[in-house]
Amino acid sequence: MHELPVTEGILNIVLKHAANARVKKVVSISLKIGEMSDLEDEWIQRYFDYLSKDTVAQGAKLKIERVPVTIRCNVCSEVYPVDIRKVSDACCPACGSDKGSMVSGREYHVKDMEVI
Ligand SMILES: [Zn+2]
Repeated sequence: MHELPVTEGILNIVLKHAANARVKKVVSISLKIGEMSDLEDEWIQRYFDYLSKDTVAQGAKLKIERVPVTIRCNVCSEVYPVDIRKVSDACCPACGSDKGSMVSGREYHVKDMEVI
């Protein structure tokens, strides 16, 4: 159940922006969430509805966009996309090394929000 702290983090960012911009109501929020982050859209929305009660973000609709997983090769620095089901045996298309570090796929951030 790591959707709860993540959703709380997202809500805090949204409320901070809303306060700075003197927003009356947040209508929708566009989020980018890494494919590897293992968060379920339905739960994020559910926690969001629960946590945003009595705030300007109450009732906001979340639009979730998935960010694909990419890996940077430790040997030749090539950055390549990986199928999330094959992350553990991914290898570099340029040099064939299986040593690499994930550069995207676990992050989450607020991309945009629609407000009144
Ligand atoms: Zn390589």
